[in-house]
Formats: sequence, structure tokens, C-alpha cells
Amino acid sequence: MFSKILLAYDGSKAANEALEKAVQLVNLTAGAELRVVHAFDFPRVFVGEGLAPIPASINKEYYDLSNQTAEEVKNKIAQFGVEAVVDVIQGSPAEVILDYAAEHGSDVIIVGSRGLGGIREFVLGSVSHNVVQHAEIPVLVVK
Ligand code: ATP
Ligand code: MG
Ligand code: MG
Repeated sequence: MFSKILLAYDGSKAANEALEKAVQLVNLTAGAELRVVHAFDFPRVFVGEGLAPIPASINKEYYDLSNQTAEEVKNKIAQFGVEAVVDVIQGSPAEVILDYAAEHGSDVIIVGSRGLGGIREFVLGSVSHNVVQHAEIPVLVVK
């Protein structure tokens, strides 16, 4: 059914549910490929009108954390006996996910409904909301 599957992963509980569905989906179709994208955004602090610089040590922590997340998702997928390409890309998550899907000709995007942050009462986080709103291909939102 789907042969170029893209999982957007942030390490959250819902993203891990999404991971399981992605693995099941890739196993449905012979020759299907799974890619995973994790976006990392450097922290920004607004002071008055402008952006305040963030110490390099903090940026490095975010960067290291993203690579850890990539390593973690690679291992989890491998445990299901599935191969995947995992990429870490800097930028605003929804934009990164949508651009990545276009660039790689994905035919479905799988996201968790919620992520690591956010306000509990909302059904969707801002990333899943934006992906559903702007994607031109099917999006599977996993709760
Ligand atoms: P918000 O970020 O708006 O405060 P939230 O963290 O609860 O809310 P989202 O960030 O929208 O919710 O997360 C929903 C899904 O989007 C995640 O389960 C994951 O699939 C994807 N996602 C979120 N952040 C990233 C990211 N940095 N890289 C890749 N995928 C992401
Ligand atoms: Mg989030
Ligand atoms: Mg967030």
C-alpha cells in the first residue's frame, strides 16, 4: 500500500506508538522503505525585541540530545528486525518533516498525536497539527 514511509520521531510516548505502526506498515509491502526524521531546533530566548545569544554549551547539549534520539530510534526499529534510514535535521520540526517528505518522495507520514511538550487538553500538538494541515500526502496520526 505505502512503499516510502516517513516516521517523524521526537522520542515521546506517542512517537513510539507511531514507530510501532510504521514498522507494521513497512512490513505490509515488499520492498517498502522506512525513513525516520528527527528535527532539532536550537533554543532561542527572546529578550525584549530581539533574540539573546544562547551559550554554545547549551546548543551542544541540544545537539547531543538529538543524536541520542536518533540512535535510540535506530535501535528500537532494529529490534523489530526492520532497516531504516535515520536523519537528524536542524530546523522547525513541522517544516523539516514536510520538506523531508517532499525531498524523499514519501507517500505517507506517520506522527504521534502528541509529543514531548504541549498542553495536555489539546488533541494534537503543534507539530502534528501543522503536518496534517499542510501535507499533500496521507498522514497517519497515532495516539
Ligand atoms: P508542542 O510541541 O506543540 O508543544 P507536543 O510536543 O505535545 O506539543 P508535537 O510536538 O506536535 O506535540 O508532537 C506530535 C508528534 O510530532 C510527535 O509524536 C512526533 O511524531 C512529531 N514530532 C514532534 N517534534 C518532532 C521533532 N522535533 N522531530 C520529528 N518529529 C517530531
Ligand atoms: Mg513537541
Ligand atoms: Mg514543542
